[in-house]
Amino acid sequence: MAVAHDVVCGMEVSTETSSHAEHEAKDYYFCCDGCKGAFVKAPAYHLENWAEEHPGVEPTPVAG
Ligand SMILES: [Zn+2]
Repeated sequence: MAVAHDVVCGMEVSTETSSHAEHEAKDYYFCCDGCKGAFVKAPAYHLENWAEEHPGVEPTPVAG
């Protein structure tokens, strides 16, 4: 199991979550379909927000 970050709400999520989306060949995971839906509509917006609020933290899964 690995941990990823939901870039929409900021929660830590397991990669076993059912809400998963691919964007530019990277895998993103979400706590729920609501967050996934928001990401899919505006991925660049949410990734920018994430990077601003969490400098240096990759939202994509970290093994462990
Ligand atoms: Zn969420």
